[in-house]
Amino acid sequence: MSLLSVTGLGKSFGGVKAVDGINFELHSGELLALIGPNGAGKSTTFNMVNGQLKADRGSIKLNGKELIGMPPRDIWRMGVGRTFQIAATFSSFTVVENVQLALLSSDNLLLATWRRATGHKRQEAMDLLAQVGMAEQADRPCSELAYGDVKRVELAIAIANDPKLLLMDEPTAGMAPKERNDLMALTKQLVIDRDMAVLFTEHSMDVVFAYADRMIVLARGRLIAEGKPDEIRDHPKVQEVYFGT
Ligand code: ADP
Ligand code: MG
Repeated sequence: MSLLSVTGLGKSFGGVKAVDGINFELHSGELLALIGPNGAGKSTTFNMVNGQLKADRGSIKLNGKELIGMPPRDIWRMGVGRTFQIAATFSSFTVVENVQLALLSSDNLLLATWRRATGHKRQEAMDLLAQVGMAEQADRPCSELAYGDVKRVELAIAIANDPKLLLMDEPTAGMAPKERNDLMALTKQLVIDRDMAVLFTEHSMDVVFAYADRMIVLARGRLIAEGKPDEIRDHPKVQEVYFGT
């Protein structure tokens, strides 16, 4: 069975059909790229999967269970995670403290409690940092890290809740090519090691073609192509929306 099964998914804003009846499947162990020009409906699709937006129609099933109508927190508890940027307020915290905080919020504790409980969940946080190659920098403030390393910490935070499906909206935005490749190679490794799946959007076609197992292409809310990178590269409809040929 598919991990995620999306059928007839639709969402309109006023008269605009942002997402217009799309279908796709995602399996454990897969990195699925969602691509398409600006305004294609990528973010709207993401936000319906994580519950921030309620779909107008269709179905989103995780392991056969309907997600539409569930509050975002319940969807998160069921194993749908997403990457968040480390907010400015947390950049003065150390690397390991940021991950401890993520582990604690998954236990539904308050920040105040965590502040008193220094050291709590540190070992678990260190294990996660080891998985993203950041254990040596655990006690540095996040504000001192290189951008690519901040992204690694954000990834550790995102997997703290042990998601089955991780949503990443433009994970490599603003990164240099080397950092992009490192982050995507790490993401791919995590998918394999943790038996999860990733759904991501990405502007860089180099990244998509190098790391996606499969891709789906949206244009004006519709799914216009689906397949392995090699199948998509020369797809006439994809050429048309990207290059106008
Ligand atoms: P993408 O992420 O692919 O760039 P979006 O999902 O953000 O595309 O947007 C798809 C379409 O829906 C666009 O036409 C956009 O203007 C519209 N849209 C998205 N969010 C809203 C909103 N909250 N209110 C009104 N229109 C929206
Ligand atoms: Mg978007």
